[in-house]
Amino acid sequence: MYRILGKTLAVAALSVLASLMISFAFVPMLGGKVAGAGLVMTIACPIAISIPASMLHFWQAERLRTANTALAQARDALAAAYDRLQDQARRDALTGALNRAAFMAGLDERNRAGAHGGLLFLDIDHFKSVNDRFGHAAGDEALARVGTVLSGLSGDGDLVGRLGGEEFAVFLHEAAPERMLDHSQAIRKAVAAIDLRTPSGIRIALGISIGAFHCAPHFDPAEALAAADRNLYRAKSAGRNTVVA
Ligand code: GH3
Ligand code: MG
Ligand code: MG
Repeated sequence: MYRILGKTLAVAALSVLASLMISFAFVPMLGGKVAGAGLVMTIACPIAISIPASMLHFWQAERLRTANTALAQARDALAAAYDRLQDQARRDALTGALNRAAFMAGLDERNRAGAHGGLLFLDIDHFKSVNDRFGHAAGDEALARVGTVLSGLSGDGDLVGRLGGEEFAVFLHEAAPERMLDHSQAIRKAVAAIDLRTPSGIRIALGISIGAFHCAPHFDPAEALAAADRNLYRAKSAGRNTVVA
């Protein structure tokens, strides 16, 4: 309000000054004299006109500025909500891993970029019996903990996805075969070390089998996943809680 008032008074003062200059320049040229009632009108008219006009102008400008700020804030909030929603649509809510479609899209993207890397197909061992013995909620908690392990061990550019049920996949971006194997063993050990317990304190032991396949540049994502799945099958046949590459 004070800002509007200050600007209005400044405009009124400038208007009076301009009015005086015009009157003193032109009235004598026309044979008159700026004095008395004429002088009063020279001062009063610009004040009477400029004060309401500039008050209205500055008030509206202020409203416009406030509205613009609110609009910019709303636009930023909307953009952030859109980003959040997009991320949510790509992720599995329980484990935080990418959903199957997003994981496959990410794998396609890596393939098109000519990347190589290690592809892991992971399946929690005897998971049905975890549900059967400890309940579905404990099974859900186990899935979430495995998701946390996978995300925690992955680096920038790696992909972690939940393909469905208790099956996960990981793409280790630009990882050589040795790193792929080391990483797989690290996952296996970290899953075995998860300290998940029932409310009465009974430990729910978890194991995971991993089929690994090293993808050369320009690999076929579907074929690579099928190859990793075949290795997973071998890991299961070999007794579970193991890695086959
Ligand atoms: P294997 O060692 O051969 O992999 O045996 P498994 O018991 O892990 O495999 P199976 O395919 O027989 O069972 C998978 C179970 O995973 C069955 C299903 O009820 C359970 N499951 C799938 N999705 C979820 C989920 O979102 N939450 C919970 N709690 N269980 C799930
Ligand atoms: Mg399975
Ligand atoms: Mg399983």
